Amino acid sequence: MTESETDKTKESSVKGPSNFIRNMITKDIASAKHEGRVVTRFPPEPNGYLHIGHAKSICLNFSLAKENGGVCNLRFDDTNPAKESQEYVDAIKENITWLGFGWNGDVRYSSSYFDHLYNFATQLIKNGKAFICSLDADQAREYRGTLTEPGKESPNRNRSISENLDLFERMRNGEYGEGAYTLRAKIDMASPNINMRDPIIYRIRHISHHQTQDKWCIYPTYDFTHCISDAIENITHSLCTLEFEDHRPLYDWILNNLELDSLKTISDSASTGAKFLLPEQTEFAKLKLNYTIMGKRKLKEMVELGIVDGWDDPRLPTLAGMRRRGFTAVSIRNFCENAGISRSESTVDLSMLEHAVREDLDQEAFRVMCVLNPLKVTISNIKESEAESLTLRNHPKKESMGTRKVPFTRGIYIDRSDFEEIPSPGFKRLTPGGEVRLRGCYVIKCDKVLKNSEGEITELICTADKETLGRRPEGRKVKGVIHWVSAVYGQEATLRLYDRLFIIENPEAKEVKDYREFLNPASLSVIKNCVIEPSIADQTRIKHFQFEREGYFIIDEKLSAQGGLAFNRTISLRDSWGK
Ligand code: ATP
Ligand code: MG
Repeated sequence: MTESETDKTKESSVKGPSNFIRNMITKDIASAKHEGRVVTRFPPEPNGYLHIGHAKSICLNFSLAKENGGVCNLRFDDTNPAKESQEYVDAIKENITWLGFGWNGDVRYSSSYFDHLYNFATQLIKNGKAFICSLDADQAREYRGTLTEPGKESPNRNRSISENLDLFERMRNGEYGEGAYTLRAKIDMASPNINMRDPIIYRIRHISHHQTQDKWCIYPTYDFTHCISDAIENITHSLCTLEFEDHRPLYDWILNNLELDSLKTISDSASTGAKFLLPEQTEFAKLKLNYTIMGKRKLKEMVELGIVDGWDDPRLPTLAGMRRRGFTAVSIRNFCENAGISRSESTVDLSMLEHAVREDLDQEAFRVMCVLNPLKVTISNIKESEAESLTLRNHPKKESMGTRKVPFTRGIYIDRSDFEEIPSPGFKRLTPGGEVRLRGCYVIKCDKVLKNSEGEITELICTADKETLGRRPEGRKVKGVIHWVSAVYGQEATLRLYDRLFIIENPEAKEVKDYREFLNPASLSVIKNCVIEPSIADQTRIKHFQFEREGYFIIDEKLSAQGGLAFNRTISLRDSWGK
């Protein structure tokens, strides 16, 4: 993190814009509901990398805790070992830290509560509130009913408590194959809410777990685990996305059907002395971005099929990808805050995210010059051996960012697009016989255009007006200013320019049968043989650059490590999409 990024983290302890969750917490504090405490949690499942949608949830949970003097736990919701791994655990922790947030104490794992969860399941059985079901997956589906028809009770629903206890223990001991039995809560097969129709709370899975290894061969479901984990951690506000709204009655049912004292004694409140209250779930709308796929299943597929270059491909909305592309943590936090929290789903325009990063990089990025499409220019009144060391500011408005040395030599490169032999109307840059200012350097005049046998321009011969360093030229106006790099000292670089990954606004829409048909073939353009000013070699500590007139760039550490200097374009200077 740069110094200024840390500064902004400090600032973010000031309250953000009002929203219904912020208001609810303010009210709860005023009424001393939780004795003024705010304990939130961020509960990722380690089955993929975090994306910008998760960032919204992270910002919400961590900021609400921080601004109210509370804490936010990081809890891996790791109940499905088939899809989870330590790689994801590590990446998630790293991403959260990079975003600028710190969790409360040690990282938590739902799996570290498996003993408790087993005991609570046993408790439900003993109290006649759960039973072992022998229906297989197809039968269970048939018995479940539909949105318009009630379900049917399992033939095993009235199995005796002692038989249930015996079967559950034997499930745990590994006596049965996967799918032979499930443990189900005994609620109401006629409920209009399908989640309440005797939901499964434990399944047999003979799979080793990334945290508990081979200790368990039965695993609790998300619904059973989540509410109890929240209660164990004495969470005051359990925030999740809208798709869990219909699960809230189950969340409450489970907690209300456990023996409160047994929950209380194992909860964090037992050691902290805080008041024990059952946690409450509140839902908010997911962040959706146009031109973007956020579903983890599809992201994973794109990685596995090699459609993108790993989870940190700069075109992905993953935090790892966005970071590699040069998005700053500050810009992502600002974007999430500005996107707002609401109860209704809406899609945010990608340009809002782009605006957030431009705004931050305009302040933070060091200016350098890089020529993308080099055209050789010889300054005839500069000697071959001469190299003038010019001093340029690293930021036009921020003197504190210092200066750098830029060598000016007889041979330089300018961008091909900055010269027009037959200038189009309004063209203000270099033309035959015309003048232009080289950024931070002299005004030059084009005396001669050299071409090869195909008639292509190969070189310009120019003269520099030596009276114009930091001074206006005498008696005439020179409007254009262009960037340039010394041909002697410039370094070669490869630039990677990115565009949106999809050509349709909603690649996740139901009508889209195969999102792969809508990939943008121009989402990555690789530009080789660019020339960048030599100061870049002294600026390895600097992360973000503005290549003057070209955009914001960051070194791609991964590719540069393979040899050569590779940069990712974070974003162009202006929003030019669709224009
Ligand atoms: P899945 O559950 O299908 O693996 P997920 O995106 O819900 O995918 P989780 O790891 O369960 O992944 O998400 C962790 C937290 O982030 C959850 O509380 C979830 O509600 C929240 N979250 C996920 N996607 C978004 C989003 N697009 N906007 C806001 N919050 C999100
Ligand atoms: Mg989820």
